[in-house]
Amino acid sequence: MSGTPNIPHPINEPVLSYAPGSPERASLKAALGQVGAERADIPAVVGGREIRSGATHDVVAPHCHRRVLAKVHQADRATIESAVRSAVEAQRDWAHWRFEDRAAVFLRAGDLLATRHRQLLNAATMLGQSKTAFQAEIDSACELIDFLRFNVHFAERIYREQPESSPGVWNRLDHRPLEGFVYAITPFNFTAIGGNLPTAPALMGNAVVWKPSATATLSNWHFFKLLEEAGLPPGVINFLPGDSIEVTQVLLADRHLAGIHFTGSTAVFQSIWRTVGEHLDRYAGYPRIVGETGGKDFILAHPSADAEALAVAMVRGAYEYQGQKCSAASRAYIPDTLWPEVRDRAVAMIEDIRMGDVADFRNFMGAVIDRRSFGRLRDHLERARKDSGVEVVAGGGADDSTGYFVQPTLLKAEDPAYRLMCEEIFGPVLTAHVYPAARWSETLELVDRTGPYALTGAVFARDRTALAEADRALRFAAGNYYVNDKPTGAVVGQQPFGGARASGTNDKAGSILNLLRWVSPRSIKETFTPPRDYRYPFMGEA
Ligand code: NAD
Repeated sequence: MSGTPNIPHPINEPVLSYAPGSPERASLKAALGQVGAERADIPAVVGGREIRSGATHDVVAPHCHRRVLAKVHQADRATIESAVRSAVEAQRDWAHWRFEDRAAVFLRAGDLLATRHRQLLNAATMLGQSKTAFQAEIDSACELIDFLRFNVHFAERIYREQPESSPGVWNRLDHRPLEGFVYAITPFNFTAIGGNLPTAPALMGNAVVWKPSATATLSNWHFFKLLEEAGLPPGVINFLPGDSIEVTQVLLADRHLAGIHFTGSTAVFQSIWRTVGEHLDRYAGYPRIVGETGGKDFILAHPSADAEALAVAMVRGAYEYQGQKCSAASRAYIPDTLWPEVRDRAVAMIEDIRMGDVADFRNFMGAVIDRRSFGRLRDHLERARKDSGVEVVAGGGADDSTGYFVQPTLLKAEDPAYRLMCEEIFGPVLTAHVYPAARWSETLELVDRTGPYALTGAVFARDRTALAEADRALRFAAGNYYVNDKPTGAVVGQQPFGGARASGTNDKAGSILNLLRWVSPRSIKETFTPPRDYRYPFMGEA
Protein backbone atom coordinates (compact mmCIF):
# COMPACT_ATOMS: atom_id res chain seq x y z
CA MET A 1 0.00 0.00 0.00
CA SER A 2 1.07 3.60 -0.47
CA GLY A 3 0.07 6.05 2.20
CA THR A 4 0.99 7.04 5.74
CA PRO A 5 -1.59 5.40 7.96
CA ASN A 6 -2.92 7.04 11.09
CA ILE A 7 -2.31 4.99 14.19
CA PRO A 8 -5.49 4.73 16.30
CA HIS A 9 -5.12 7.07 19.26
CA PRO A 10 -4.93 4.90 22.40
CA ILE A 11 -7.14 5.36 25.41
CA ASN A 12 -6.74 3.43 28.64
CA GLU A 13 -8.73 0.22 28.72
CA PRO A 14 -11.68 0.66 31.12
CA VAL A 15 -11.51 -1.46 34.28
CA LEU A 16 -14.52 -3.77 34.56
CA SER A 17 -16.19 -4.00 37.96
CA TYR A 18 -17.04 -7.72 38.37
CA ALA A 19 -19.87 -6.66 40.65
CA PRO A 20 -22.52 -9.31 41.41
CA GLY A 21 -24.80 -9.77 38.40
CA SER A 22 -22.35 -8.27 35.88
CA PRO A 23 -21.72 -10.25 32.66
CA GLU A 24 -17.96 -10.08 33.18
CA ARG A 25 -18.31 -11.77 36.56
CA ALA A 26 -20.17 -14.69 35.00
CA SER A 27 -17.66 -15.11 32.18
CA LEU A 28 -14.70 -14.87 34.57
CA LYS A 29 -16.22 -17.57 36.79
CA ALA A 30 -16.65 -19.80 33.73
CA ALA A 31 -13.02 -19.17 32.72
CA LEU A 32 -11.82 -20.01 36.24
CA GLY A 33 -13.58 -23.37 35.95
CA GLN A 34 -12.05 -24.00 32.54
CA VAL A 35 -8.46 -23.00 33.40
CA GLY A 36 -8.67 -24.84 36.74
CA ALA A 37 -9.73 -28.08 35.05
CA GLU A 38 -7.41 -27.93 32.07
CA ARG A 39 -3.94 -28.95 33.38
CA ALA A 40 -2.11 -27.27 30.51
CA ASP A 41 0.96 -29.02 29.12
CA ILE A 42 3.29 -26.09 28.43
CA PRO A 43 6.22 -26.50 26.03
CA ALA A 44 9.08 -24.26 24.99
CA VAL A 45 8.37 -22.66 21.60
CA VAL A 46 11.30 -22.01 19.31
CA GLY A 47 10.83 -20.79 15.76
CA GLY A 48 7.14 -21.65 16.09
CA ARG A 49 7.92 -25.26 17.03
CA GLU A 50 6.66 -26.59 20.36
CA ILE A 51 9.38 -28.52 22.16
CA ARG A 52 8.54 -30.82 25.08
CA SER A 53 11.67 -31.95 26.88
CA GLY A 54 9.80 -34.32 29.19
CA ALA A 55 11.53 -32.77 32.21
CA THR A 56 8.60 -30.91 33.74
CA HIS A 57 7.82 -28.63 36.67
CA ASP A 58 4.33 -28.29 38.08
CA VAL A 59 2.50 -24.97 38.27
CA VAL A 60 0.56 -25.05 41.55
CA ALA A 61 -1.97 -22.47 42.79
CA PRO A 62 -0.22 -20.54 45.59
CA HIS A 63 -3.44 -20.54 47.64
CA CYS A 64 -4.09 -24.28 47.30
CA HIS A 65 -1.24 -26.80 47.41
CA ARG A 66 -3.49 -29.53 45.98
CA ARG A 67 -4.30 -27.61 42.83
CA VAL A 68 -1.87 -28.48 40.05
CA LEU A 69 -2.71 -26.18 37.13
CA ALA A 70 -0.13 -27.09 34.52
CA LYS A 71 3.10 -28.84 33.83
CA VAL A 72 5.88 -26.94 32.16
CA HIS A 73 8.57 -28.56 30.04
CA GLN A 74 11.94 -27.10 30.96
CA ALA A 75 14.03 -26.13 27.96
CA ASP A 76 17.18 -28.25 27.66
CA ARG A 77 20.51 -26.91 26.49
CA ALA A 78 19.97 -27.73 22.82
CA THR A 79 16.62 -25.93 22.90
CA ILE A 80 18.15 -22.88 24.56
CA GLU A 81 20.86 -22.72 21.92
CA SER A 82 18.34 -23.17 19.12
CA ALA A 83 16.24 -20.29 20.52
CA VAL A 84 19.11 -17.89 19.89
CA ARG A 85 19.60 -19.14 16.33
CA SER A 86 15.87 -18.92 15.71
CA ALA A 87 15.67 -15.32 16.93
CA VAL A 88 18.65 -14.19 14.89
CA GLU A 89 17.24 -15.89 11.81
CA ALA A 90 13.70 -14.53 12.28
CA GLN A 91 14.98 -11.01 12.65
CA ARG A 92 16.44 -11.03 9.15
CA ASP A 93 12.91 -10.81 7.81
CA TRP A 94 11.06 -9.17 10.74
CA ALA A 95 13.44 -6.19 10.83
CA HIS A 96 12.26 -5.28 7.33
CA TRP A 97 8.53 -5.57 7.93
CA ARG A 98 6.68 -2.28 7.42
CA PHE A 99 5.76 -0.60 10.68
CA GLU A 100 2.05 -0.84 9.98
CA ASP A 101 2.30 -4.62 9.61
CA ARG A 102 4.21 -5.00 12.87
CA ALA A 103 1.85 -2.58 14.58
CA ALA A 104 -1.18 -4.53 13.36
CA VAL A 105 0.06 -7.70 15.07
CA PHE A 106 0.24 -5.98 18.45
CA LEU A 107 -2.94 -3.94 18.02
CA ARG A 108 -4.75 -7.14 17.15
CA ALA A 109 -3.23 -8.79 20.23
CA GLY A 110 -4.59 -5.89 22.31
CA ASP A 111 -8.04 -6.34 20.85
CA LEU A 112 -8.02 -10.12 21.33
CA LEU A 113 -7.07 -9.56 24.94
CA ALA A 114 -9.73 -6.89 25.44
CA THR A 115 -12.42 -9.21 24.10
CA ARG A 116 -12.23 -12.98 23.52
CA HIS A 117 -9.26 -13.80 25.72
CA ARG A 118 -9.71 -11.30 28.53
CA GLN A 119 -11.17 -13.76 31.02
CA LEU A 120 -8.80 -16.56 30.04
CA LEU A 121 -5.82 -14.35 30.93
CA ASN A 122 -7.50 -13.06 34.07
CA ALA A 123 -8.37 -16.57 35.24
CA ALA A 124 -4.84 -17.87 34.57
CA THR A 125 -3.40 -14.90 36.49
CA MET A 126 -5.80 -15.39 39.40
CA LEU A 127 -5.14 -19.10 39.76
CA GLY A 128 -1.45 -19.19 38.90
CA GLN A 129 -0.32 -16.02 40.70
CA SER A 130 -3.08 -15.80 43.36
CA LYS A 131 -4.56 -12.46 42.33
CA THR A 132 -8.10 -11.39 43.13
CA ALA A 133 -10.45 -10.65 40.22
CA PHE A 134 -9.78 -6.91 40.49
CA GLN A 135 -5.99 -7.29 40.77
CA ALA A 136 -6.00 -9.58 37.74
CA GLU A 137 -8.23 -7.21 35.75
CA ILE A 138 -5.92 -4.22 36.27
CA ASP A 139 -2.89 -6.34 35.37
CA SER A 140 -3.47 -9.09 32.81
CA ALA A 141 -6.31 -7.24 31.09
CA CYS A 142 -6.05 -3.44 31.35
CA GLU A 143 -2.33 -2.84 31.81
CA LEU A 144 -1.29 -5.36 29.21
CA ILE A 145 -3.83 -4.05 26.68
CA ASP A 146 -2.55 -0.53 27.40
CA PHE A 147 1.07 -1.59 26.89
CA LEU A 148 0.21 -3.07 23.50
CA ARG A 149 -1.80 -0.08 22.26
CA PHE A 150 0.25 2.76 23.75
CA ASN A 151 3.54 1.25 22.61
CA VAL A 152 2.32 1.32 19.01
CA HIS A 153 1.44 4.98 19.46
CA PHE A 154 4.85 5.77 21.01
CA ALA A 155 6.65 3.84 18.29
CA GLU A 156 4.95 6.00 15.68
CA ARG A 157 6.22 9.10 17.46
CA ILE A 158 9.75 7.73 17.35
CA TYR A 159 9.51 7.01 13.63
CA ARG A 160 8.22 10.54 13.02
CA GLU A 161 11.33 11.95 14.67
CA GLN A 162 13.28 13.10 11.61
CA PRO A 163 16.12 15.57 11.12
CA GLU A 164 16.16 18.90 9.26
CA SER A 165 17.33 19.01 5.67
CA SER A 166 19.17 21.74 3.75
CA PRO A 167 18.86 22.84 0.09
CA GLY A 168 19.84 20.03 -2.26
CA VAL A 169 20.07 17.55 0.60
CA TRP A 170 17.54 15.18 2.13
CA ASN A 171 18.35 13.89 5.64
CA ARG A 172 16.54 10.98 7.17
CA LEU A 173 16.70 8.80 10.26
CA ASP A 174 16.22 5.08 9.88
CA HIS A 175 15.20 3.85 13.36
CA ARG A 176 16.67 0.39 12.95
CA PRO A 177 16.18 -2.38 15.49
CA LEU A 178 19.25 -3.60 17.37
CA GLU A 179 21.40 -6.09 15.51
CA GLY A 180 21.07 -9.45 17.27
CA PHE A 181 18.51 -10.71 19.78
CA VAL A 182 16.98 -9.24 22.89
CA TYR A 183 16.75 -11.38 26.04
CA ALA A 184 13.54 -10.70 28.00
CA ILE A 185 13.58 -11.97 31.60
CA THR A 186 10.27 -11.44 33.35
CA PRO A 187 9.02 -11.47 36.96
CA PHE A 188 6.14 -13.38 38.54
CA ASN A 189 4.16 -10.48 39.90
CA PHE A 190 2.65 -8.87 36.79
CA THR A 191 1.34 -10.71 33.75
CA ALA A 192 1.44 -7.31 32.04
CA ILE A 193 5.19 -7.01 32.59
CA GLY A 194 5.60 -10.59 31.38
CA GLY A 195 3.86 -9.55 28.18
CA ASN A 196 5.47 -6.14 27.78
CA LEU A 197 9.14 -7.05 28.12
CA PRO A 198 9.25 -9.26 25.00
CA THR A 199 6.69 -7.32 22.93
CA ALA A 200 8.14 -3.81 23.32
CA PRO A 201 11.46 -4.70 21.63
CA ALA A 202 9.64 -6.93 19.10
CA LEU A 203 7.41 -4.03 18.06
CA MET A 204 10.53 -2.04 17.16
CA GLY A 205 11.71 -4.85 14.83
CA ASN A 206 13.80 -6.89 17.26
CA ALA A 207 13.64 -10.63 17.78
CA VAL A 208 13.42 -11.89 21.32
CA VAL A 209 14.11 -14.86 23.55
CA TRP A 210 11.63 -14.70 26.43
CA LYS A 211 12.27 -16.54 29.68
CA PRO A 212 9.09 -16.33 31.76
CA SER A 213 9.12 -16.60 35.54
CA ALA A 214 8.49 -20.17 36.74
CA THR A 215 5.59 -18.98 38.93
CA ALA A 216 3.87 -16.96 36.19
CA THR A 217 4.26 -19.46 33.36
CA LEU A 218 0.57 -20.30 33.07
CA SER A 219 -0.65 -16.76 32.30
CA ASN A 220 2.48 -16.00 30.26
CA TRP A 221 1.87 -19.12 28.13
CA HIS A 222 -1.70 -18.08 27.36
CA PHE A 223 -0.44 -14.64 26.34
CA PHE A 224 2.19 -16.20 24.09
CA LYS A 225 -0.53 -18.27 22.36
CA LEU A 226 -2.56 -15.08 21.93
CA LEU A 227 0.40 -13.42 20.18
CA GLU A 228 0.60 -16.34 17.77
CA GLU A 229 -3.12 -15.97 17.09
CA ALA A 230 -2.59 -12.26 16.48
CA GLY A 231 -0.18 -13.09 13.65
CA LEU A 232 3.25 -12.87 15.26
CA PRO A 233 5.57 -14.78 12.91
CA PRO A 234 7.49 -17.82 14.21
CA GLY A 235 10.81 -17.03 15.87
CA VAL A 236 10.18 -13.33 16.52
CA ILE A 237 9.49 -14.16 20.15
CA ASN A 238 10.76 -17.52 21.40
CA PHE A 239 9.17 -18.81 24.59
CA LEU A 240 11.73 -20.48 26.83
CA PRO A 241 10.65 -21.71 30.25
CA GLY A 242 13.55 -23.35 32.03
CA ASP A 243 16.26 -23.11 34.61
CA SER A 244 16.97 -19.40 34.89
CA ILE A 245 20.65 -19.83 35.60
CA GLU A 246 21.27 -22.20 32.70
CA VAL A 247 19.22 -20.18 30.21
CA THR A 248 20.96 -16.97 31.26
CA GLN A 249 24.40 -18.54 31.11
CA VAL A 250 23.90 -19.63 27.50
CA LEU A 251 22.25 -16.42 26.32
CA LEU A 252 24.66 -13.98 27.95
CA ALA A 253 27.60 -15.84 26.42
CA ASP A 254 26.28 -15.42 22.89
CA ARG A 255 27.92 -13.04 20.44
CA HIS A 256 24.51 -11.91 19.14
CA LEU A 257 23.20 -10.62 22.47
CA ALA A 258 21.99 -7.11 21.62
CA GLY A 259 19.82 -6.21 24.58
CA ILE A 260 18.42 -7.31 27.92
CA HIS A 261 14.94 -6.39 29.08
CA PHE A 262 14.70 -7.40 32.71
CA THR A 263 12.29 -6.89 35.58
CA GLY A 264 12.90 -8.62 38.88
CA SER A 265 15.06 -8.39 41.95
CA THR A 266 18.06 -6.11 42.30
CA ALA A 267 20.49 -8.94 43.13
CA VAL A 268 19.65 -10.89 39.97
CA PHE A 269 19.88 -7.77 37.79
CA GLN A 270 23.27 -6.89 39.23
CA SER A 271 24.56 -10.41 38.58
CA ILE A 272 23.35 -10.18 34.96
CA TRP A 273 25.01 -6.80 34.43
CA ARG A 274 28.27 -8.12 35.93
CA THR A 275 28.26 -11.12 33.57
CA VAL A 276 27.63 -8.88 30.58
CA GLY A 277 30.64 -6.79 31.64
CA GLU A 278 32.82 -9.88 31.89
CA HIS A 279 31.76 -11.02 28.40
CA LEU A 280 32.05 -7.63 26.73
CA ASP A 281 34.72 -8.61 24.26
CA ARG A 282 32.59 -11.50 22.91
CA TYR A 283 29.72 -9.37 21.72
CA ALA A 284 29.23 -7.90 18.27
CA GLY A 285 28.10 -4.63 19.90
CA TYR A 286 27.34 -3.15 23.30
CA PRO A 287 24.18 -4.82 24.64
CA ARG A 288 21.48 -2.40 25.79
CA ILE A 289 20.67 -3.19 29.40
CA VAL A 290 17.26 -2.21 30.73
CA GLY A 291 16.29 -3.39 34.20
CA GLU A 292 13.53 -2.43 36.61
CA THR A 293 14.20 -3.93 40.00
CA GLY A 294 13.44 -3.78 43.73
CA GLY A 295 12.12 -1.07 45.98
CA LYS A 296 11.48 -0.08 49.57
CA ASP A 297 8.57 2.18 48.88
CA PHE A 298 7.53 4.77 51.42
CA ILE A 299 4.52 6.64 52.67
CA LEU A 300 5.41 9.80 54.53
CA ALA A 301 2.80 11.79 56.42
CA HIS A 302 3.10 15.43 57.46
CA PRO A 303 1.25 16.49 60.64
CA SER A 304 -1.28 18.25 58.38
CA ALA A 305 -2.18 14.98 56.56
CA ASP A 306 -5.75 13.72 56.26
CA ALA A 307 -5.63 10.69 58.58
CA GLU A 308 -8.50 8.86 56.89
CA ALA A 309 -7.05 9.09 53.37
CA LEU A 310 -3.64 8.19 54.76
CA ALA A 311 -4.87 5.04 56.52
CA VAL A 312 -6.69 3.83 53.37
CA ALA A 313 -3.56 4.45 51.28
CA MET A 314 -1.50 2.46 53.77
CA VAL A 315 -3.89 -0.49 53.65
CA ARG A 316 -4.40 -0.55 49.89
CA GLY A 317 -0.79 0.39 49.17
CA ALA A 318 0.72 -2.25 51.44
CA TYR A 319 -1.60 -5.25 51.22
CA GLU A 320 -3.19 -5.41 47.78
CA TYR A 321 -1.74 -8.40 45.94
CA GLN A 322 -0.22 -9.43 49.27
CA GLY A 323 2.32 -6.61 49.11
CA GLN A 324 3.96 -8.23 46.08
CA LYS A 325 3.89 -5.19 43.83
CA CYS A 326 7.29 -3.62 43.30
CA SER A 327 5.52 -0.36 44.20
CA ALA A 328 3.90 -1.65 47.42
CA ALA A 329 4.26 0.56 50.48
CA SER A 330 6.54 -1.18 52.94
CA ARG A 331 7.79 1.65 55.18
CA ALA A 332 5.74 4.48 56.66
CA TYR A 333 6.70 7.59 58.59
CA ILE A 334 3.86 8.97 60.71
CA PRO A 335 4.02 11.96 63.08
CA ASP A 336 3.23 11.17 66.72
CA THR A 337 0.33 13.62 66.63
CA LEU A 338 -1.45 11.54 63.96
CA TRP A 339 -0.35 8.04 64.91
CA PRO A 340 -3.17 7.06 67.32
CA GLU A 341 -5.89 7.91 64.80
CA VAL A 342 -4.06 6.46 61.81
CA ARG A 343 -3.21 3.27 63.73
CA ASP A 344 -6.80 2.74 64.87
CA ARG A 345 -8.21 3.32 61.41
CA ALA A 346 -5.61 1.03 59.77
CA VAL A 347 -6.10 -1.73 62.37
CA ALA A 348 -9.88 -1.63 61.90
CA MET A 349 -9.44 -2.13 58.15
CA ILE A 350 -6.79 -4.83 58.55
CA GLU A 351 -9.05 -6.77 60.90
CA ASP A 352 -11.81 -6.54 58.32
CA ILE A 353 -9.69 -7.90 55.45
CA ARG A 354 -10.61 -11.35 54.19
CA MET A 355 -7.90 -13.57 52.82
CA GLY A 356 -8.27 -16.90 51.05
CA ASP A 357 -8.97 -18.60 47.72
CA VAL A 358 -9.10 -15.91 45.02
CA ALA A 359 -12.03 -17.67 43.34
CA ASP A 360 -14.09 -16.56 46.33
CA PHE A 361 -14.72 -12.95 45.30
CA ARG A 362 -15.25 -11.76 48.87
CA ASN A 363 -11.52 -12.03 49.54
CA PHE A 364 -9.32 -8.93 49.38
CA MET A 365 -6.10 -10.96 49.51
CA GLY A 366 -4.80 -14.30 48.25
CA ALA A 367 -1.60 -16.17 49.06
CA VAL A 368 2.05 -15.18 48.57
CA ILE A 369 3.67 -16.68 45.53
CA ASP A 370 5.61 -19.72 46.75
CA ARG A 371 7.22 -21.68 49.57
CA ARG A 372 10.46 -19.67 49.45
CA SER A 373 8.67 -16.37 49.79
CA PHE A 374 6.41 -17.74 52.53
CA GLY A 375 9.36 -19.08 54.54
CA ARG A 376 11.24 -15.80 54.26
CA LEU A 377 8.23 -13.80 55.41
CA ARG A 378 7.44 -16.15 58.29
CA ASP A 379 11.06 -15.86 59.51
CA HIS A 380 10.92 -12.06 59.34
CA LEU A 381 7.69 -12.01 61.32
CA GLU A 382 9.04 -14.42 63.93
CA ARG A 383 12.11 -12.23 64.44
CA ALA A 384 9.96 -9.09 64.62
CA ARG A 385 7.81 -10.64 67.36
CA LYS A 386 10.92 -11.31 69.43
CA ASP A 387 12.50 -7.91 68.84
CA SER A 388 12.05 -5.55 71.80
CA GLY A 389 12.18 -2.46 69.56
CA VAL A 390 9.25 -3.66 67.45
CA GLU A 391 5.55 -3.77 68.20
CA VAL A 392 3.24 -6.01 66.16
CA VAL A 393 0.31 -3.62 65.78
CA ALA A 394 -1.81 -5.93 63.60
CA GLY A 395 -1.47 -9.32 61.91
CA GLY A 396 1.88 -11.08 62.22
CA GLY A 397 0.66 -14.62 61.50
CA ALA A 398 1.45 -17.01 58.66
CA ASP A 399 -0.16 -20.33 57.80
CA ASP A 400 0.79 -22.69 54.99
CA SER A 401 -1.53 -25.56 55.77
CA THR A 402 -3.66 -25.09 52.61
CA GLY A 403 -1.76 -22.35 50.75
CA TYR A 404 0.94 -19.76 51.42
CA PHE A 405 -1.05 -17.30 53.50
CA VAL A 406 0.59 -14.42 55.35
CA GLN A 407 -1.60 -12.04 57.33
CA PRO A 408 -1.59 -8.36 56.47
CA THR A 409 0.80 -7.04 59.08
CA LEU A 410 1.48 -3.62 60.56
CA LEU A 411 4.65 -3.27 62.62
CA LYS A 412 5.90 -0.25 64.55
CA ALA A 413 9.68 0.10 64.76
CA GLU A 414 11.49 2.39 67.20
CA ASP A 415 14.64 2.44 65.13
CA PRO A 416 14.18 3.99 61.66
CA ALA A 417 17.18 1.92 60.52
CA TYR A 418 15.49 -1.33 61.64
CA ARG A 419 15.92 -4.08 59.02
CA LEU A 420 12.31 -4.03 57.90
CA MET A 421 12.49 -0.27 57.35
CA CYS A 422 15.36 -0.80 54.86
CA GLU A 423 15.16 -4.19 53.11
CA GLU A 424 12.70 -5.21 50.44
CA ILE A 425 10.90 -8.33 51.74
CA PHE A 426 8.08 -8.48 49.18
CA GLY A 427 5.06 -9.41 51.27
CA PRO A 428 2.09 -7.88 53.11
CA VAL A 429 4.18 -6.25 55.83
CA LEU A 430 4.19 -2.50 56.47
CA THR A 431 6.63 -1.19 59.05
CA ALA A 432 5.90 2.24 60.52
CA HIS A 433 8.23 4.61 62.30
CA VAL A 434 6.54 7.25 64.45
CA TYR A 435 8.48 10.53 64.46
CA PRO A 436 8.09 13.64 66.64
CA ALA A 437 5.88 16.05 64.66
CA ALA A 438 8.39 18.87 65.15
CA ARG A 439 11.07 16.87 63.28
CA TRP A 440 9.49 16.99 59.81
CA SER A 441 12.55 18.32 58.00
CA GLU A 442 14.88 15.75 59.60
CA THR A 443 12.39 13.04 58.67
CA LEU A 444 12.53 14.09 55.03
CA GLU A 445 16.28 13.48 55.12
CA LEU A 446 15.75 10.16 56.83
CA VAL A 447 13.32 8.98 54.16
CA ASP A 448 15.74 9.97 51.42
CA ARG A 449 18.76 8.32 53.07
CA THR A 450 17.20 5.04 54.15
CA GLY A 451 18.11 2.04 51.96
CA PRO A 452 19.52 1.84 48.46
CA TYR A 453 16.27 2.05 46.48
CA ALA A 454 14.31 4.84 44.77
CA LEU A 455 11.22 3.28 43.18
CA THR A 456 7.96 4.72 44.53
CA GLY A 457 6.99 6.99 47.39
CA ALA A 458 3.96 8.91 48.63
CA VAL A 459 3.64 12.07 50.66
CA PHE A 460 0.48 13.05 52.52
CA ALA A 461 -0.05 16.67 53.63
CA ARG A 462 -2.62 19.43 53.43
CA ASP A 463 -0.02 22.12 54.07
CA ARG A 464 1.25 23.30 50.66
CA THR A 465 4.59 24.52 52.02
CA ALA A 466 5.25 21.07 53.45
CA LEU A 467 4.46 19.47 50.08
CA ALA A 468 6.86 21.85 48.33
CA GLU A 469 9.59 21.06 50.85
CA ALA A 470 9.03 17.32 50.42
CA ASP A 471 9.01 17.63 46.63
CA ARG A 472 12.49 19.10 46.73
CA ALA A 473 13.96 16.93 49.52
CA LEU A 474 12.68 13.70 47.95
CA ARG A 475 13.33 14.55 44.30
CA PHE A 476 15.72 11.62 43.87
CA ALA A 477 14.06 9.27 46.40
CA ALA A 478 11.44 7.88 43.99
CA GLY A 479 10.99 7.46 40.24
CA ASN A 480 7.21 7.44 40.80
CA TYR A 481 6.19 10.02 43.36
CA TYR A 482 2.64 10.41 44.67
CA VAL A 483 1.02 13.31 46.48
CA ASN A 484 -1.92 12.42 48.71
CA ASP A 485 -2.27 9.06 46.97
CA LYS A 486 -1.05 5.51 47.52
CA PRO A 487 2.27 4.64 45.84
CA THR A 488 0.85 1.78 43.71
CA GLY A 489 -1.37 1.51 40.63
CA ALA A 490 0.61 3.36 37.93
CA VAL A 491 -1.31 3.52 34.65
CA VAL A 492 0.36 3.20 31.24
CA GLY A 493 0.42 6.54 29.41
CA GLN A 494 -0.40 8.41 32.64
CA GLN A 495 2.33 7.65 35.18
CA PRO A 496 5.27 6.11 33.28
CA PHE A 497 6.80 3.62 35.68
CA GLY A 498 10.34 3.00 36.94
CA GLY A 499 12.85 3.93 39.60
CA ALA A 500 16.50 4.89 39.89
CA ARG A 501 19.34 4.24 42.37
CA ALA A 502 19.28 0.46 43.09
CA SER A 503 15.74 0.23 41.69
CA GLY A 504 16.77 0.11 38.06
CA THR A 505 17.73 1.97 34.93
CA ASN A 506 14.48 3.99 35.04
CA ASP A 507 13.64 3.49 31.39
CA LYS A 508 9.91 3.83 32.13
CA ALA A 509 8.07 0.79 30.79
CA GLY A 510 5.20 1.64 28.46
CA SER A 511 6.63 4.99 27.40
CA ILE A 512 8.55 6.42 24.49
CA LEU A 513 11.68 6.40 26.67
CA ASN A 514 11.64 2.61 26.93
CA LEU A 515 11.09 2.07 23.19
CA LEU A 516 14.04 4.32 22.40
CA ARG A 517 16.29 1.71 24.00
CA TRP A 518 15.29 -0.84 21.35
CA VAL A 519 16.32 1.16 18.30
CA SER A 520 19.69 2.04 16.85
CA PRO A 521 19.17 4.95 14.46
CA ARG A 522 20.98 5.22 11.13
CA SER A 523 21.47 8.73 9.76
CA ILE A 524 21.03 8.92 6.02
CA LYS A 525 22.15 11.93 4.00
CA GLU A 526 21.19 12.02 0.35
CA THR A 527 22.60 14.74 -1.86
CA PHE A 528 20.58 15.52 -5.00
CA THR A 529 23.20 17.50 -6.88
CA PRO A 530 26.63 16.35 -5.72
CA PRO A 531 29.58 18.74 -6.42
CA ARG A 532 31.47 18.16 -9.63
CA ASP A 533 34.65 20.01 -8.75
CA TYR A 534 36.90 19.17 -5.79
CA ARG A 535 38.05 22.82 -5.44
CA TYR A 536 36.32 25.31 -3.13
CA PRO A 537 35.57 28.94 -4.24
CA PHE A 538 38.04 30.40 -1.68
CA MET A 539 40.87 28.80 -3.66
CA GLY A 540 40.31 31.10 -6.66
CA GLU A 541 42.98 33.69 -7.77
CA ALA A 542 42.47 37.14 -6.18
P1 NAD B 1 13.41 -12.51 40.57
O1 NAD B 1 14.61 -11.64 40.47
O2 NAD B 1 13.45 -13.67 41.50
O3 NAD B 1 13.08 -13.16 39.14
C1 NAD B 1 12.93 -12.35 37.99
C2 NAD B 1 13.30 -13.18 36.77
O4 NAD B 1 14.70 -13.49 36.84
C3 NAD B 1 12.56 -14.52 36.70
O5 NAD B 1 12.28 -14.81 35.35
C4 NAD B 1 13.57 -15.48 37.25
O6 NAD B 1 13.40 -16.80 36.78
C5 NAD B 1 14.88 -14.90 36.76
N1 NAD B 1 16.03 -15.27 37.59
C6 NAD B 1 16.05 -15.58 38.90
N2 NAD B 1 17.31 -15.85 39.29
C7 NAD B 1 18.09 -15.67 38.22
C8 NAD B 1 19.49 -15.78 37.99
N3 NAD B 1 20.33 -16.12 38.96
N4 NAD B 1 19.95 -15.49 36.77
C9 NAD B 1 19.11 -15.11 35.78
N5 NAD B 1 17.78 -15.02 35.94
C10 NAD B 1 17.28 -15.28 37.13
O7 NAD B 1 12.16 -11.57 40.86
P2 NAD B 1 10.64 -11.97 41.09
O8 NAD B 1 10.54 -12.63 42.42
O9 NAD B 1 10.08 -12.66 39.91
O10 NAD B 1 9.96 -10.54 41.15
C11 NAD B 1 9.99 -9.74 42.28
C12 NAD B 1 11.05 -8.68 42.17
O11 NAD B 1 10.84 -7.93 41.00
C13 NAD B 1 11.00 -7.68 43.32
O12 NAD B 1 12.30 -7.35 43.70
C14 NAD B 1 10.30 -6.48 42.70
O13 NAD B 1 10.56 -5.26 43.32
C15 NAD B 1 10.82 -6.53 41.31
N6 NAD B 1 9.92 -5.85 40.39
C16 NAD B 1 10.27 -4.60 39.98
C17 NAD B 1 9.45 -3.90 39.11
C18 NAD B 1 9.81 -2.52 38.64
O14 NAD B 1 9.19 -2.03 37.71
N7 NAD B 1 10.80 -1.88 39.23
C19 NAD B 1 8.25 -4.48 38.67
C20 NAD B 1 7.93 -5.76 39.10
C21 NAD B 1 8.78 -6.44 39.96
